[in-house]
Order: sequence, then structure tokens, then C-alpha cells
Amino acid sequence: MHPQFFRHRWQGGYCEVKFLSSVLLGEKVRIALQLIKNRKMTFEETGLKPELLSAISEMGFQQPTPIQEKTIPHLLENDNDLVALAQTGTGKTAAFGLPLLHNVDLSNSSVQALVLCPTRELCLQISRDLESFSKYMKGFTNIAVYGGADIGKQIRELRRGGQIVVGTPGRVHDLIRRNVLDVSAIRWLVLDEADEMLTMGFKEEMDAILANTPAIKQTLLFSATMPAEIAEMSGKYLHNPEELSVGRRNQGSDNVEHHYYVVHAKDKYATLKRIADNYPNCYAIVFCRTRMETREVAEKFMADGYNADALHGDLSQAQRDQVMARFRSKNLQMLVATDVAARGLDVNELTHVINYSLPDDPEVYIHRSGRTGRAGKKGISVSILHMRETGKMRQIENVSNKRFQRKQVPGGEEICEVQLMHLIDKVVAVEVDDNRIDPYLEAIKDKFEGLNSDEILKRFVSVEFNRFLEYYRDAPDLNIKERETHGRESRVGRSGDRVKFSRMFINAGKKQNLNASRLLGMINDSLRKKNIEIGKIDIQRKFSFFEIDSRFEGELVKAMSRVSLDGQSVKVDRVTGEGPAGFDRSRGRKRDFSGSNNNNFNRKRQR
Ligand code: ADP
Ligand code: MG
Repeated sequence: MHPQFFRHRWQGGYCEVKFLSSVLLGEKVRIALQLIKNRKMTFEETGLKPELLSAISEMGFQQPTPIQEKTIPHLLENDNDLVALAQTGTGKTAAFGLPLLHNVDLSNSSVQALVLCPTRELCLQISRDLESFSKYMKGFTNIAVYGGADIGKQIRELRRGGQIVVGTPGRVHDLIRRNVLDVSAIRWLVLDEADEMLTMGFKEEMDAILANTPAIKQTLLFSATMPAEIAEMSGKYLHNPEELSVGRRNQGSDNVEHHYYVVHAKDKYATLKRIADNYPNCYAIVFCRTRMETREVAEKFMADGYNADALHGDLSQAQRDQVMARFRSKNLQMLVATDVAARGLDVNELTHVINYSLPDDPEVYIHRSGRTGRAGKKGISVSILHMRETGKMRQIENVSNKRFQRKQVPGGEEICEVQLMHLIDKVVAVEVDDNRIDPYLEAIKDKFEGLNSDEILKRFVSVEFNRFLEYYRDAPDLNIKERETHGRESRVGRSGDRVKFSRMFINAGKKQNLNASRLLGMINDSLRKKNIEIGKIDIQRKFSFFEIDSRFEGELVKAMSRVSLDGQSVKVDRVTGEGPAGFDRSRGRKRDFSGSNNNNFNRKRQR
């Protein structure tokens, strides 16, 4: 309410007070209604069948996710088409799967719903989810059809009948042409990951499939993103669709932290190993750009003794299935994969997504990082960048509205300590089979004769640990320094936390009687906050440099513009380049080095 409104009303006396109180009461009612509206809906309130409610409650679903809260009532109550945009990991499968299952006619075993999705893995995953949801629905059958698998078996399954068919566009089209799959009477069509189906070049197949479906049906288009092609597709095939969107477009999950390391291109693989060693319990997908890169990284990684394998399009379907099964059951710790192969895969509890290379398209990054931080869990998306990729990262930051934190590649000592503690944890947690060990105990004790318990401990640990000590002996620092990247370096600050520092310039120095403690005082006074990390201070004659926690950089520049020192107003600026050259550039004076391009200059220096 505008303050002017209050002032105006108060002048009118008692009547106005009464009026105002009724307005305020109205406001209370509004807030109460808002609270009711904001209360989380329960699955019971959606009106889904009890059989479905029991199944999902057994699966641990307690409340609908935001997209489910919107789509389930919509699909139960009306038959308008729907375009739903939601981030990955928000539960889109149940968002369409549950209402489809609720609505299908179980007394009829002909195909009533067709779900199209881009990959075989996703197809199997959706089928698996539908099977779990329909655990208590007698008479329900769903059929998965996808390429690269025995078509005869799929044909036999289709002949036996089923209410929902989940398939990839290529195989579905093939089966329609063979007159085995009849989609002419479907009531629902679901396009899952529609954007990806277009990216993968399924447009023709999709057009052909859609031409075989009846004019009257309910079409649901699900997508994490809304590129122009999808808008076009929606315009062409959907009738007055309702648009639902959860979260802002182009935004990844909030449960994911985005970390990056800057190293020389030749050190990328070594960095990957250090990250893997530094997180001994990680369960991760390592994304590469091409099949070849995927194969190379996976092969080296396996040869180096890591529990990893590759997933890419060059593998046979049987091989892909085998790799996925091992990964899902956590017998495989790291999956090295291409984007296409890993699209839409829902593997629970991934701790990390590792971007061995950044994708060109920021949307792809958002998809990748959406593989972790799912279903309310925390996750970390790690990017291993070489210097020229930092621009790409900034672009992703802009599109996704997320900040990346620079991390330092762990050094040998840090990793050895992590590994040692990991080993000790394993020793503490191991189950001892007393019956089988006891018979040997006396003989073992004899062998240890003369060693005290400390010595025994050290020896046991060394058996496993020497490998790491050996590998990391004199391990070089792989990080590229701040001066080289022109970025903001993160270091351990005085508080013990990692801090990203910005290098700042101030137009005062010894001549103005500035010294370190006076500068600290000025900074603290102008920001009116204590304990802001301040890094190195370099007081020159007429100007000075200092470092400050990057998060306060903008605030400081503004606040210091109001400060004066010995009668002279003070100017603070961030140093954008390196050393005095950077300072000159930032102040708009000396622009260049003898006409050469600074970027080239810097690039040469890297080599
Ligand atoms: P999307 O297709 O949006 O990427 P999925 O449908 O694959 O996401 O769901 C991601 C994960 O969240 C799955 O493991 C799924 O079982 C789980 N999930 C979905 N809905 C719920 C819910 N309401 N409560 C708890 N977990 C859920
Ligand atoms: Mg999905």
C-alpha cells in the first residue's frame, strides 16, 4: 500500500480509521488465503487412485514436486493440451506418468497412450518408473520399444497388448510402418525431452508418427528448455496448450554447487585424477564432448586403476546395458559419458557431475549439472577448464544465473591425507568374521612379535597407502595462477575459509600518509562491516593496491567514493588486468602494447 494512501486516509478522522481497519482486515484475509495457497499439496488431495497412492508412498514420495502439483490436477480434470517446462530432476516422469495411469482404461488392452522419448536408456527408465507406480494396478501393461534391441520380442509384446507404449521415435515409427503398433486410437501423446528429440534429429520420425495419431487426443509436451523449434512444434501440433513452467527457464537446480578448476589443457586428465582421489566416495558422471574423448579418458582412467567405464554411442546396446546396470547398482563409481548417452538418465544420489570439457551450449551444461542435486539432495558440478574456456563458463553463469566458485586443484599432501583418512574409515567400518579370523590369531601375533601397536598400525596403513604417497611425491601444482588467468583467485583467507579476492586500486599512497592499518580502518569504516577478508596490501608512493573478498568489491567501490583522505577524495577501482598494465587499461589510458592485441600477448605467455 502506498504511504500516500495512509496519510490521506488518516486526515479523515474516525470514519477513515474504521475504513482503514477494514482494509487491514482485508489484508489479513488475503495473507491467510495466501498461506493456504502456499501450503504444500498432498498426493491424496490430487485425487489419484488409492492403488497409485500406495505405490508412490512405498517409493518414498511424500509430497508432489511443484511440476507434479500443477500437472496432476490439470490432467485429471481437463483435456487441454499442455506444455510443461521444468528443470531436470523435478519429477516430470511422475508428473505425466501418474495421471496417465490414473486415466487408462484397464478393461481394454489396446494402446491408449504413447510416450516418445529420445534414448533407449530413458525409455527403459520411464518404463521402470511406470512399472513401479502401477505395482498395485491389476491388468495394466506397459511396453517399451526402442532401437538396437530384438524387434521380434517387441512385436510379440505389442501383439499381447498393453495400455501404454513408451518408445524412441525411430523404433516407434518402424513398428507403425510394419502395422504392428496402432496409434490411431490413442487418447494421450506424451513428448518427453522434446527438445532433445529434435536435437537428435528425430523431427521426421516424429512428424510421421504424429500423422498417424487421431486428431482428438491430449498431447503433453515436456521439456527442460524452450528453444524456438519447440515453440514451433508446440504451435503446430498442440491445440491451445496451457503452458506450465516451474522455476525460471534456463535455470538449473538450486541444490547444485558449481565449482571450477583452471589448468593447462595438458593437465586436464591429471586434474581429473586428483579430483577423483580427493573424493574417494564420489559417485559421478564424467562428461566429455566427443565419443573419442570419452573413450580415451575412460580407457586411461580404467588403466590407472579407477572404478570407471565408458558410455557412448560406439558401444553395442548390450555393452551399454551392462555398463548402466553396473553404474546403477554402484558397482561402477564413475561413468565417463557423452551428452547424448547420458541424457535424461536418472541415477539417484550422484555426488558429482564432472565436466571434463565444457559444452558449447549453456543449456547442455544445465542438463549435465541437473544429473546431480536431484530429489532434494546436494550435488556438485565440477568443471575442469583450460584458460580459454573461462569465457564459456562466464556465458553459462549468465544464462543460468548461477555463480561458479573457483577451487584449487588439490595438492599431493591434501589428497594423501584424504586418502589416509578414507582408508582408516574403511578399516574401522569393516566387518570382522571372528570365526574365520580367530584360528589364525595366535600365528599372526607370533609374526608381530617385537612390534609395538604403533608400528603395526603404520605398517598396515602403508601397505595400501604407499601407492598414493609414491604417486603424489613431488606432485606439481596444477593450478594456473591468478596473474595468468586475470581472474579472481581463491585462497584460504585469515578466517580459514576459501575466499575469492579481487585486486583493487586506490589513488592514494605514502604521499598521502596512507599505510596498511589506515587503509584497513578506511575500508572497515566505509563498509560498516567487520571481518571482511582483506588480502595483500601494497602501498606505493602515490597509489596503492589491495585485495578484498570479491563479494564486497562493488559495495566497496561505491562506499569509498564518499571517503576523503587529507582533503582529497578517494577513488577505488578493481584492477582488471595484471600489474600496472592492467591498472593503466582500467583507467583508460595506455591501451595496448605497441598496437598488439593484449589477448595474443597473454596467450603467448601461457605456452
Ligand atoms: P525429470 O524427468 O524431471 O528429470 P524424474 O522424473 O526422472 O525427473 O525424477 C527425478 C527423481 O525424483 C526420480 O528418482 C524420482 O523417483 C524422484 N521423484 C519424483 N517425484 C518425487 C516426489 N514427489 N517425491 C520424491 N521423489 C520424487
Ligand atoms: Mg525425465
